[in-house]
Amino acid sequence: MPLTLAVLAFAAAATAAPDAEIRAAADALVPALVETRRDIHRHPELGNREFRTGKLVAERLRALGLDVRYPVAKTGVVGILKGGRPGAVVAVRADLDALPIQERNDVPYKSENAGVKHACGHDAHTTIVLGTAEVLAGLRAQLPGTVVFVFQPAEEGSPEGEEGGAPLMIKEGVLQGPKVEAMYGLHMDPSIDVGEVGWSVGPIFASSDRFVIEVQGKKTHGAYPHTGLDPVPVAAELVQALQLVVSRQIDAQEPKVLTIGSIHGGNRFNIVADQVTLEGTIRALEPAVRKTLKERIARTVEGVAGAHGTTAALRWVGDGNGATLNDAALTRASVPSLERVYGAARVREVRPQMGAEDFASFAERVPALYVKMGVRNQAKGITAMIHTEDFDLDEAVLPLGVRALSTMAWDFLARGGTTPARK
Ligand SMILES: [Zn+2]
Ligand SMILES: [Zn+2]
Repeated sequence: MPLTLAVLAFAAAATAAPDAEIRAAADALVPALVETRRDIHRHPELGNREFRTGKLVAERLRALGLDVRYPVAKTGVVGILKGGRPGAVVAVRADLDALPIQERNDVPYKSENAGVKHACGHDAHTTIVLGTAEVLAGLRAQLPGTVVFVFQPAEEGSPEGEEGGAPLMIKEGVLQGPKVEAMYGLHMDPSIDVGEVGWSVGPIFASSDRFVIEVQGKKTHGAYPHTGLDPVPVAAELVQALQLVVSRQIDAQEPKVLTIGSIHGGNRFNIVADQVTLEGTIRALEPAVRKTLKERIARTVEGVAGAHGTTAALRWVGDGNGATLNDAALTRASVPSLERVYGAARVREVRPQMGAEDFASFAERVPALYVKMGVRNQAKGITAMIHTEDFDLDEAVLPLGVRALSTMAWDFLARGGTTPARK
């Protein structure tokens, strides 16, 4: 190679990821990626119980020569890859847990744990982040900084009364040793065709809060309701009144959802119940809307119950999740990296969704980007939504995901960590 070309090649390597090498490495990994994803898919584990999955991840990362912390936050794993060149610190995150759903797909890699299934694609997230660790470890000598691979348990929530998920990972220091300057995350998305990827600036997932309302009445004979206090019509009125908070009290331009998912009360047709329990969730993209919803729900519960002489207790379960916010500067800087992997026409700005994601906790602390990778393939019949017994994904996403994360992380380091860390 003539000297000028060699100098140019070196300059290019210093400013961007080595696309061809990353691609070759990811393509060579395809059979292993498919095998890993299917292995994890066959052995799904619920939140804070990802014993096999966490161990598998820790062993793989150790075999790649990474510094491994395990267990973290019960069953989580952190792998640290220090590149051959000094530089910034970037993190890449996967989640390990499955859902209490019975698999209905008749596939060779069908779940072997009755009633438990990777119905949210976290098997693919784990596989892709492991693949990213393998590709970057193979190019370690040229890597201009440090990559922290974060595998967290319990994204779908911890068992009642247990800590877990991203907040516990943070509490146990995953953003501090070494200090993470930016973070990337990904989710499988069956509303996007495989081979495409979606991003947004600002919220990409909503905040989520869970509440319980207990309406207290007084039991009596069903023929003489005036001798007791009937909580059933009060509960019915509450269901309606709470929807009026959403439709009449908050700007129609602000996305929000309130769902009452369960009502339980009473025990016989001719006895006035003494208590009704309603459980529900609220979703919002803006923190101010989330706050207003919570205040108005409290006011409505108290007012409606009081109007009928009953009492009602409102309880928020846990702290809830904030909205997942993509940092504007990091997103704009990272979209060109995605375009080099997917092709510009297949990288699309998408609207935020009202689902929630505990990646939000990381994104509250460091500039972060969470992207949605298409897994839909109509021709193969892969169209089911996540969290369903039929959900599956087109495994062509696996090498694409590895290339996308490897490229974004590398480019961030090559830029010297252009997005300043927040306090
Ligand atoms: Zn999920
Ligand atoms: Zn998920």
